[in-house]
Amino acid sequence: MAFRTDIEIARAAKKKPIQEIGAALGIPPEHLLPYGHDKAKVGQGFIDGLKDRPDGKLVLVTAVNPTPAGEGKTTTTVGLGDGLNRIGRNAVVCIREASLGPNFGMKGGAAGGGLAQVVPMEDMNLHFTGDFHAITSAHSLLAAMIDNHIYWGNELDIDIRRVVWRRVVDMNDRALRQITASLGGVANGFPRETGFDITVASEVMAILCLARDLKDLEERLGAMIVAYRRDKTPVYCRDIGAEGAMTVLLKDAMQPNLVQTLENNPAFVHGGPFANIAHGCNSVIATKTALKLADFVVTEAGFGADLGAEKFMNIKCRKAGIAPSVVVVVATVRAMKMNGGVARADLGAENVEAVKAGCANLGRHIENVKGFGVPVVVAINHFVTDTDAEVQAVKDYVEGQDAEAVLSRHWELGSEGSAPLAEAVARLADADTAQFATLYPDAMGLADKIETIATRIYRADGVVLDGKLRAQLKDWEDQGYGDLPVCMAKTQYSFTTDPTLRGAPTGFTIPVREVRLSAGAGFVVAICGEIMTMPGLPKAPAAQSIRLNAAGEIEGLF
Ligand code: ADP
Ligand code: MG
Repeated sequence: MAFRTDIEIARAAKKKPIQEIGAALGIPPEHLLPYGHDKAKVGQGFIDGLKDRPDGKLVLVTAVNPTPAGEGKTTTTVGLGDGLNRIGRNAVVCIREASLGPNFGMKGGAAGGGLAQVVPMEDMNLHFTGDFHAITSAHSLLAAMIDNHIYWGNELDIDIRRVVWRRVVDMNDRALRQITASLGGVANGFPRETGFDITVASEVMAILCLARDLKDLEERLGAMIVAYRRDKTPVYCRDIGAEGAMTVLLKDAMQPNLVQTLENNPAFVHGGPFANIAHGCNSVIATKTALKLADFVVTEAGFGADLGAEKFMNIKCRKAGIAPSVVVVVATVRAMKMNGGVARADLGAENVEAVKAGCANLGRHIENVKGFGVPVVVAINHFVTDTDAEVQAVKDYVEGQDAEAVLSRHWELGSEGSAPLAEAVARLADADTAQFATLYPDAMGLADKIETIATRIYRADGVVLDGKLRAQLKDWEDQGYGDLPVCMAKTQYSFTTDPTLRGAPTGFTIPVREVRLSAGAGFVVAICGEIMTMPGLPKAPAAQSIRLNAAGEIEGLF
């Protein structure tokens, strides 16, 4: 049986005008700011008026350690949202916006897949409503103002070797990772080394996703550290005086984007911070708005549960004052096989033993999520090549872990295929058993927070944190940053820092290579292993096969 590509399915969608989607949520047309016929931003005035309404229930979708192919978290998030609506529970999906860089690199979009997608998927994967361009512009404005300040006399006494504010562009471009700026003579300033990151790695992105409102956004932007003086004291964005103008540039980007699923159910698509040096979840403002408008909000966190769910709980939920009622851990037979030692090329062949061996990875994630006090259901995201025996092996394993696994066929069948998952999620949410608790209190020391995550979530024997890094963390504590949560930046493929160690490894330590302070976003980043903040393109980038056909339609985009 031949399946249609994601873009063919998306193109055939019977979309409703966005005003109808908004009306179903009770958003009057005057509070929807339409971007064309099928996308709209929700007005701040309307959002402000929701404050006193009760919250719906929050469902987090996370996953086992991913294989390089991606395990279908977004697809399952969208499928579950449609499934809940199908069984009569009104639900809103909240996911992240897409970065242009990866779209033109490797195949794989951000809108879900098969019959569980958000539309318009082409727009969502390309410029969408311009939020990322606004973030790039705000980031660039600050970069320009810093060099301009130095040019006009450097009154703040910035050490030009210690300007930490880099530049960003929303493209995978390895040539820009390390550059020398201000070359060409006196009129162009003082030559110095700098470089570019991809836009999603900008602290402005993390702030946009964590800020409560525009006032909070402006304060957080002002609090970002952009450089250091010769005496090592920090220079803040507010010292440069950029936060007001940056907020003006971000005014519209702060408002959540409303679109729809293939089944005409509402979806907020807003924000998209990196899941390594940032927290990897959609915006707080979108999630909180959705909670006021629906009985269920289904949202996704990046990477596997060791990174994504941990940061969702310890950073996003802590800061936003929200808590999940149920967590869905997405597992696939393919991922279990890879975690059980099967090579990517051999995933097509049935291998029940490898599935069983790989389930140890799933088991550790289930235990970890339960550790946050939230009930778990495992969604087996069904691939048509999975055999019944393989699926049964996963189900049996999960039952042995005192949890339930549900086979979900949303990719192939839409909500008809995800209704059983939706029933299981609704049942757990209705039982109201969640007693959410973060993993560590604000007051715990920064080094201890890193150690707690490494030992309790990754199951490491400990962390390797040398004297210099400990001293840095201590300095930040003395400066009043000790209450911040920690944002771990580590490979997504393993509980360890070695991407090839799959399954549930033991007997390892977590070496911390570097620590960074994201003072505006409000977290301390612990970098464990090599982390890329400017990806490159593969030898044959997807861009080579993306084009407009004679009918003016986009081809080759997934
Ligand atoms: P993640 O959010 O975990 O990165 P996605 O949901 O974006 O993963 O899915 C990654 C890719 O895998 C998408 O191209 C999607 O179409 C595909 N995919 C997801 N689930 C299935 C499935 N059950 N069968 C076939 N392809 C799938
Ligand atoms: Mg995803």
